[in-house]
Amino acid sequence: MSDTVDVLVIGAGIHGAGVAQVAAAAGYSVRLLEQYSEPAQGTSSRSSKLIHGGLRYLEGFHFGLVRESLRERALLLKNAPELVHLTPMHIPLYGHSQRGPLLIRAGLSLYAVLGGMRRENRFQQLPRSQWEQLDGLETTGLRAVFRYFEAQTDDAALTRAVLHSAQQLGAGILFDTCVTTVELSPEGGIAHYQSGGRSQSLSFRALVNAAGPWASEVLEKVSPAQSVPAVELVRGSHIVLPGALSAAYYVESPRDHRAVFALPWHGHTLVGTTEGLYQGDPGAVSAPQDEIDYLLETWRHYFTSSPGEKNVRILESFAGLRVLPSSQGLLSARSRETSLVVDRCSQPRLLSVLGGKLTTYRSTSERVIQRLAGSLPERVPRADTREIQL
Ligand SMILES: Cc1cc2nc3c(=O)[nH]c(=O)nc-3n(C[C@H](O)[C@H](O)[C@H](O)COP(=O)(O)OP(=O)(O)OC[C@H]3O[C@@H](n4cnc5c(N)ncnc54)[C@H](O)[C@@H]3O)c2cc1C
Repeated sequence: MSDTVDVLVIGAGIHGAGVAQVAAAAGYSVRLLEQYSEPAQGTSSRSSKLIHGGLRYLEGFHFGLVRESLRERALLLKNAPELVHLTPMHIPLYGHSQRGPLLIRAGLSLYAVLGGMRRENRFQQLPRSQWEQLDGLETTGLRAVFRYFEAQTDDAALTRAVLHSAQQLGAGILFDTCVTTVELSPEGGIAHYQSGGRSQSLSFRALVNAAGPWASEVLEKVSPAQSVPAVELVRGSHIVLPGALSAAYYVESPRDHRAVFALPWHGHTLVGTTEGLYQGDPGAVSAPQDEIDYLLETWRHYFTSSPGEKNVRILESFAGLRVLPSSQGLLSARSRETSLVVDRCSQPRLLSVLGGKLTTYRSTSERVIQRLAGSLPERVPRADTREIQL
């Protein structure tokens, strides 16, 4: 097999881009195949654009995930200062809020400790005298406002930057290329794909299925047949409203107390998200009217006190799909940990990335390549992704 790549990656979302970068930095030959003509056409342009520790994951005791996320956030702030910046985030607490000041203070303290007590992890409770400066936030019934820092990015731009870095390290990227079938063999396998109207094939030593919400579909194309993990697609919708907020806010939906955020976003305001099970083509997902209404209702509840402001114009709406483990109970309580699924325990040839976060794409990609290292030849590393500027 002369034309065999070490690592073949399916998908040019943030995980595919991250895996291609880490693999190329580790010295492996890498090829990435993407069905669309540009990167980040799936979930990685439809996220909430936060590079965050995930304050609310503390309620589920996911301390490891929060620590890892804050560590990766610190790296991105250092290595991608033009793509990732800190934004003050406010948590207003009202008489009707489900979480009280003591709980929020405890959560933010733990968040700061898990983040290594860096300056960007400090928080404060705002004095009443500053409440009027909060973008017209409703103050009736307001008991306390906490301010801490989250980081924001442009998810598609971040994905493009990571992919560009992978290319500079030697990874080959093919767009408009859809993987149709995969045959595994003892020493790797062969992927068949359609590109430019032609059927082509490529041999690999290890295949990474970074197809996001299409990952189960990709697994169904593999022979011998693979078991498809029990996951569900959960839609998260966003709306974009005119006028930029000066800072970001986490509020509770007046309908069901779920956390909803409002963020400044490219001169406008981004409000999200919802959670609802989705079945169907991942490429066709969009925000349904009832989820748009839910977000608008929350926005109006907290930010439009005068009747004239109630007729808010929606500039845009979009939705993305989370890949979450199937289980009973609240969708918001399901684990946000990334799951790496392999075809066999020893020397895997196929690894699927399921779920995960934009924030932790680099550490997830490191784990992917470490898991596959036993199936790959020795190579001389070219770079360390913790040091690469984006
Ligand atoms: C609503 C929502 C909000 C979120 N907010 C945040 C947030 O604020 N912060 C955060 O850290 N994380 C957030 N996340 C999580 C984060 O966005 C995702 O974990 C991440 O974008 C997933 O990237 P991915 O590369 O796995 O998948 P995707 O970005 O979906 O990429 C998969 C790619 O695979 C390609 N593909 C599929 N099948 C094939 C095939 N057969 N051949 C070739 N190519 C194929 C697709 O075209 C696509 O480009 C959010 C997720 C959602 C849904």
